[in-house]
Amino acid sequence: MSRRITLILASLLLGPSVPMALAQHDHGHEEHGKPAEFKMPATYKDGVAEIQHRLHEIEELMEAKKLDQVHSQAEVIQKVGNIIGQLALKPNSGVPKEAIKDVNKAGRELAAKFDAIDKAGDSGDLAGTRKVYEEMTKLCDTLENYLPKEYACPMRCEGDKTYPQPGKCPKCGMALKEVAAKRGPHGGPLAWSADHKCGIEATLSKDNEVRIYLCDEKSKPLSADRVAVQAHAGKKGAPESEHRPVSLMLDGSKSSLAGKIAATVKPPLTIMLVVDFKDGKKAQSFNFDFERPTAAAHEEHKQDKGHHGDEHKEHRP
Ligand SMILES: [Zn+2]
Repeated sequence: MSRRITLILASLLLGPSVPMALAQHDHGHEEHGKPAEFKMPATYKDGVAEIQHRLHEIEELMEAKKLDQVHSQAEVIQKVGNIIGQLALKPNSGVPKEAIKDVNKAGRELAAKFDAIDKAGDSGDLAGTRKVYEEMTKLCDTLENYLPKEYACPMRCEGDKTYPQPGKCPKCGMALKEVAAKRGPHGGPLAWSADHKCGIEATLSKDNEVRIYLCDEKSKPLSADRVAVQAHAGKKGAPESEHRPVSLMLDGSKSSLAGKIAATVKPPLTIMLVVDFKDGKKAQSFNFDFERPTAAAHEEHKQDKGHHGDEHKEHRP
């Protein structure tokens, strides 16, 4: 089936309120090279993943200084942004009703960033492109916040398959673990201890450094020495046998545990944590998936080596 037909079919399936301009949008920008290959997502989760993926592509294009190609990635984000509200409205999207308005707004705003990032990209303006990109990343974080809770086998017996409720893996019988999806105060995915008293957040920097932060229910930071953590990292969806240990060190201020993932393991990647909360109970395990490095909006560790210095993102307006 041609991509154009797929797109029209998708818009028919998605109902009458999809703007018809969507189907016609394929044409008109040939001067920027081929439009990006993509299939219209059918679920909220896939829609958010598509936007995350395209933002990651834009990040790489900026690093490779290929700004003329930003256009086709941003165009996909525009299309998905325009329908993400409808995907959130679907009965099993997992998005709470009261959040639909917020999701719709973030989606529309994301779509509306197309002109700005296209213009900046076409004029070779790296700083301008990055500025719009960061605004888009923030909007994408809003969408990620409403992703429903998901559970998966820690051994990934069924690949990327997830369940909306805890239970047992049908293949190996292990208890399903929550896959962290929501954001913590440092912009990384956040999961909770069984008693919900301690939030555990992981961030991933562009140079593959992972940091683990703890917080209480009110997002107030907790000292990172309250827990003992074992970490393994590998390609997302790879069997656990291919995951490699990551040694974590407590930083001087005890605000986080930090370690380096082998440079050969690029996102999308999964970090598996076994966390001993030192409460006499059994250690809990968590899987953190990273489609891309986390936005470094709250990065507190600028003393890190100084390379990539111009790419840090602290200086938001
Ligand atoms: Zn299993």
